[in-house]
Amino acid sequence: MKNEVLELRREGIFCPAGDFYIDPRGKVDRALITHAHSDHGRPGHNSYLCSDTCKSLLKIRIGKDAVVESLPFGEKIKIGNSLVSFHPAGHILGSAQIRVEVNGRVWVVSGDYKPQEDQTCEPFELLKCNGFITECTFGLPVYRWLPEEKIHQQINEWWLENKQDDKPSLLFSYSLGKAQRVLAGLRKEIGSIYVHSAVYPFLEHYEQAGIKLPQVMKIERGKEYDFNGSIIIAPPAVEDSTWTRKFRSARKGFASGWMAIRGARRRRNLDRGFILSDHADWNGLIDVIKGTGAEEIKVTHGNGDALTRYLGEQGMNCSILSGASIRGEEEE
Ligand SMILES: [Zn+2]
Repeated sequence: MKNEVLELRREGIFCPAGDFYIDPRGKVDRALITHAHSDHGRPGHNSYLCSDTCKSLLKIRIGKDAVVESLPFGEKIKIGNSLVSFHPAGHILGSAQIRVEVNGRVWVVSGDYKPQEDQTCEPFELLKCNGFITECTFGLPVYRWLPEEKIHQQINEWWLENKQDDKPSLLFSYSLGKAQRVLAGLRKEIGSIYVHSAVYPFLEHYEQAGIKLPQVMKIERGKEYDFNGSIIIAPPAVEDSTWTRKFRSARKGFASGWMAIRGARRRRNLDRGFILSDHADWNGLIDVIKGTGAEEIKVTHGNGDALTRYLGEQGMNCSILSGASIRGEEEE
């Protein structure tokens, strides 16, 4: 990809007019970051620019000494000969689409996004643009999400059932974004809520941003707890670790868009899968892409074959961003 606004370099998406990269993979001087997930906000760049609510979350990930500047959503600044602004992506707290304007031409880099409702982050904003670089983690028609309150209800019912059977409920969800979204939907009158130490550091930043979360207890190493009837939120990375062994009697669940795939739950030896994703589903991707009115669409993050074929059949100029990484299951 190379156009008047953006081009793809070895380090990632680059804007020559502003001399900055967006979510670069390689080390660069100036990085504009869409959100604080580790496959977008990486450590080691000389300077960072992100949204105001992203800043404290990003610093947890890349180190508190990193040079991070931030902008409120919607505010336009000049960087070199480009005009830049951040707009809510609805993916996790502080997640942004980055709008770049050069000589009147506008490209938007979506980062990860979802147009669905989520009470733990700023709602997605649809932007008009000439070119749109879209993620497509769940770019197949099989991915269709239910409203989040339905999933919250399923989780609460599962928790209550397990409590009535005198069992703890161990629910795996990604530590930044998904865990907080799950927490926000829990009915605290059912029982005690515990979180793994990887989830805990983000919570105060959510509360500072005005997101309402229930009271939780952090699980400390070496302490004894009575987990029966409680729910424990932990990242999927600890699923097969010694940490999880103390929950032998627990019912285990996983909240993720990947739970929509038949067999994904059984393969992981889980009792329940809850289909809750922080990415756009198939219809969400199509609605947003069409809504931008973009003349050119580039697809990244995921297998974009089905989506580019579908949009191409409708006469849209859509292709896969060549050289972009194909992401696996680890970051959602
Ligand atoms: Zn993400």
